[in-house]
Amino acid sequence: MDKIAILCSGGDSCGMNPAIKRFVEYSFSKNLQPYFVYGGYEGLIDNKIQEATYADVTGIIHRGGTKIYSSRSKRFKEKKYRDIAAKNLKNLGITKLVVLGGDGSFRGIDIFFQEHKISFCGIPATIDNDINGTQYCLGVDTALNVIKVATDNIRDTAASFKRAFVIEVMGKGCGYLALVSALTSGAEMCLIPEIPYDLEALKKRYLKEIDQGRNYFIAIVAEGLDNAKEIALWFEKEIGFESRVTTLGHIQRGGNPTVRERLMAYQFATYAIDALSEGKTNAVICYNNGAFDFKNIDEVNAKKYEIDENLLELGKCLLNK
Ligand code: ADP
Repeated sequence: MDKIAILCSGGDSCGMNPAIKRFVEYSFSKNLQPYFVYGGYEGLIDNKIQEATYADVTGIIHRGGTKIYSSRSKRFKEKKYRDIAAKNLKNLGITKLVVLGGDGSFRGIDIFFQEHKISFCGIPATIDNDINGTQYCLGVDTALNVIKVATDNIRDTAASFKRAFVIEVMGKGCGYLALVSALTSGAEMCLIPEIPYDLEALKKRYLKEIDQGRNYFIAIVAEGLDNAKEIALWFEKEIGFESRVTTLGHIQRGGNPTVRERLMAYQFATYAIDALSEGKTNAVICYNNGAFDFKNIDEVNAKKYEIDENLLELGKCLLNK
């Protein structure tokens, strides 16, 4: 029986648990023995690798986070620790590895593969949706729904009090979460690193809208700009509206995985095991335009992720109405 292991690395995201459940069940159905690496690359180094059973994955499909824990590992950046990690896998006879993580984790596993030739398949998993080569990363839909609920709630109070609310959402250097959230929650302002903005032009428009009866503002800003407080001050000084900043923070990482998330997790895990069974050695499962395919890790790591041009255009329209 071939042995296959799964680990989660970097920032956790919703969808990891449903993917882990499918990983175990599909492994058994393909006559593979599944293993868990607990705690990401740290667990790989410390040999926290255990056989997985059906019982391990009961009752986890509706949980955010990851049952097998994640980590950031400084040690994994050093060759001597990657050598230990490889020895641990080889001692157990594990020849295949599924890695749920972001671009950092993929860079790490690529180096590990080049050194030790242990086959791996990456599943993009990060709420930031910032991995090149795939339009979807596990965790994004649930995070967007968390932001939607929070923004709708804030809108209730904003409307009652004639205020401007500046909502900062996650995404590191990527504005995807902020952009989609702004488009789907009717925000008046969306500031992301990918779209230049002109506060003077916005001021003219907002003042006109106030004349026409507007009595509150919702602004969604990407954390990558690090300017939520500055924008709130701008609303106070330039627009004359009392303002508040809400930093959504880590609530965006948790929650009950949405239906879309669970289905994506199911498919990502299935295709990852298929890829390894078919002999792929260093692939990432990517999702584009409604279909899944495998991309070589070099292709994924070669470039920075860019938000779809059509989506960016919609964001520009929102800012330049
Ligand atoms: P994410 O995968 O969510 O982008 P990080 O960027 O923190 O998260 O990366 C997760 C882990 O991947 C790091 O803690 C480290 O162990 C490993 N990693 C990242 N870059 C490298 C690298 N150049 N060499 C080896 N390991 C790396």
